[in-house]
Amino acid sequence: MQTRYLKLEDYIRTGEISPADKAKIAEAAKVLAEGGLVAFPTETVYGLGGDARRPDVSRRIYEAKGRPSDNPLIVHIADPDGMRPLASYISADCRKMMDACWPGPMTLVVNKTALIPHETTGGLDTVAVRMPVHKVARELIRLSGVPVAAPSANRSGRPSTTTAAHCVEDLDGRVDVILDGGPCDIGVESAIFDMTGDRAVILRPGAVTREMAAKVLGYVPEEDKAVKGPLSAGEKPKAPGMKYRHYAPKAPVLLVLPEAEGFEKIKRIVAAEMAQGKRAEVICSDECAAFLRSNFDNAPIIRTIGSRDDRLSLAHSLFSALRETDTDDIDIIVAEGFSEDELGRAIMNRLKKAAGWNTI
Ligand code: AMP
Ligand code: MG
Repeated sequence: MQTRYLKLEDYIRTGEISPADKAKIAEAAKVLAEGGLVAFPTETVYGLGGDARRPDVSRRIYEAKGRPSDNPLIVHIADPDGMRPLASYISADCRKMMDACWPGPMTLVVNKTALIPHETTGGLDTVAVRMPVHKVARELIRLSGVPVAAPSANRSGRPSTTTAAHCVEDLDGRVDVILDGGPCDIGVESAIFDMTGDRAVILRPGAVTREMAAKVLGYVPEEDKAVKGPLSAGEKPKAPGMKYRHYAPKAPVLLVLPEAEGFEKIKRIVAAEMAQGKRAEVICSDECAAFLRSNFDNAPIIRTIGSRDDRLSLAHSLFSALRETDTDDIDIIVAEGFSEDELGRAIMNRLKKAAGWNTI
């Protein structure tokens, strides 16, 4: 398949959709309406979109990603009214979360209607729904006139795509259109809340944080077990995707949990790996990088993802950094860990999964 690459030049430069951009978005929307696949930008990561109502389209999405078919897709809508036809019931808590956090980086799991086939939900009777805030995503969904099933636009198992170049790497020749709207702002996937029970449950931490949800709901939502640690054999996570290997670069990742001794611990661990003859690469904050550079005679490769004080910058650059390590000739990646509050929870969740829970 020949993939059409459409770049939204004016939007990337100005943040506004020009008439020329709009024509390209309309072209992509037509592809969606006709059952094609479009990779498109959102505020979290790039999505690989198709008509959520069509079993054949969902099957093509799984095929393009190489994704196991029991791992359900998130359905994207352009406005809150789009929820009605998808959800058989909207609880009071669910309505509160929609009102407070949409449009935005939050997905809500609700009981589905017959409009969404089991092919889209990985066989579940629930559906995950999100209304993104990204202007291009919203315009695309609106113009297509269909609910858009869109998992992250990466090949299954790889780090999520946060630029159109990542999408080309993973999906060129496998989708009809790649719509380039520049790099994603947030850089980690949406927070997922299960709204089907008495109380909301966090299935995946994201930029709508536990703290934010607690303010909206009046109680602190629990996290599903699969968020906290590896499941034992036979245990089923509520979000089926959480059981699969994720975000994995080619080299193994060792995640260094934050401790009071600060960067000394990271230096010690990197030095130990290098003493065993391993070629090490470090993914860390600017502050840690400065420390390592001035404390090593023979410093390892260091990839910085921003200041420790700027969580958004860390989230924004994380997946790019993980992807970029693939081109380096290394045996191990040592990653700096961060404290698990606010957006730090989502960052650490992705790092732990990239490390296959290999923490120290
Ligand atoms: P991605 O599309 O890569 O952002 O991954 C979507 C995530 O949403 C996966 O972890 C899925 O398991 C989860 N998900 C999608 N639909 C549902 C659902 N109906 N119930 C629980 N989790 C879901
Ligand atoms: Mg994904």
